[in-house]
Amino acid sequence: MEPVVQFDNVKKCYGSHVAVDDLNLSIEPGKFVTLLGPSGCGKSTTLRMLGGFDLPTSGRILLSGKDVTRVPPNKRNVNIVFQDYALFPHLTIARNIAFGLELKGLDNAAIHRRVSELLELVQLQDYAKRLPSELSGGQRQRVALMRALAPDPEVLLLDEPLSALDAKLRQQMQIELKAIQEKTGKTFMFVTHDQEEALTMSDTIVVMNNGRIEQMGDPHTLYGRPGSVFVANFIGETNLLRSTVTGAEGDIAVLDWKGTTIRAERGGLSPKAGDHLYVVLRPEAIQCSADEPAIGNRVKGRIRQRVFKGNHTSLMVEVGDGDLLNALMHPAEAVRLDGEDVWVGWSHETTTVIPDRQTHG
Ligand code: ADP
Ligand code: MG
Repeated sequence: MEPVVQFDNVKKCYGSHVAVDDLNLSIEPGKFVTLLGPSGCGKSTTLRMLGGFDLPTSGRILLSGKDVTRVPPNKRNVNIVFQDYALFPHLTIARNIAFGLELKGLDNAAIHRRVSELLELVQLQDYAKRLPSELSGGQRQRVALMRALAPDPEVLLLDEPLSALDAKLRQQMQIELKAIQEKTGKTFMFVTHDQEEALTMSDTIVVMNNGRIEQMGDPHTLYGRPGSVFVANFIGETNLLRSTVTGAEGDIAVLDWKGTTIRAERGGLSPKAGDHLYVVLRPEAIQCSADEPAIGNRVKGRIRQRVFKGNHTSLMVEVGDGDLLNALMHPAEAVRLDGEDVWVGWSHETTTVIPDRQTHG
């Protein structure tokens, strides 16, 4: 299938500052794609270049196979939604949504049909004649989205559109946004610095760091098989065990972690004895027990901190000479572990390894 969006070696400099570097990205139509990364990593710049608001310093951008690198925003079939999605305050909801269609010169009957269809999509049929000031924040956000979708853009660009909403409404809008994307089958390119938001909505997450793509994949792969320490730390919480390879057993790497032998899935790597690796051990993969568990990897520790979070308890367990492991437990189980001494265990199947860049070029 021809990609709907393609970045070919795109670079963007502001003076001597490189905001986006060596960007190569190909997006299949109909997907929810999220650019995720810390503030300043180049997400908005990437989106603005696709929208035509910023010109790349070098490289090419293609929309459905057509080079649009130098095509002005109003001449390319994309639309953008920002956080401050200012609706026209003096126009009704229906007229707000109709705005882009009137610009396109559609006839009244066609405009009416399209507006009704979009209002129905977000269950705002009864609000057509209201003014934006008569709607809640969440409803206004839906209208802004429909206004952007009305002219049927090839790609809808969304730059942190939910970041001004409170937590509850934000979670609700995440689910709704994903549902709208699925119903319309449009390609959404969404920008956020919030990993949870990215995991909730995306078909594909593009993790950016310092103007470059760090890793790209579906949410499960990025969470379960992070390819770098940056991604492992940025997506979810993690324990990183810096270990030395001592051998291999098929797809499993055997490692020494501070005197304890542990095993981990080696993923695509072929580590040699003596190599240093990080074992990625997610907090929820750890089982804590009073008695020694019958599980592949286990080590004795001492509970140093318990933090009750309602639906889980986070335990900080000290192992070896002062290393702290973060373990996630059901609160009731955590209460049963009343002493300090505890066994920490995990299966190799729940882990993955990352090369330690300090020892690998
Ligand atoms: P993000 O959206 O990921 O937070 P941006 O794409 O906005 O990051 O910015 C990437 C980098 O480029 C940042 O270091 C930012 O300061 C810089 N930058 C963005 N826009 C401009 C501009 N118009 N002039 C100079 N530097 C800019
Ligand atoms: Mg930004």
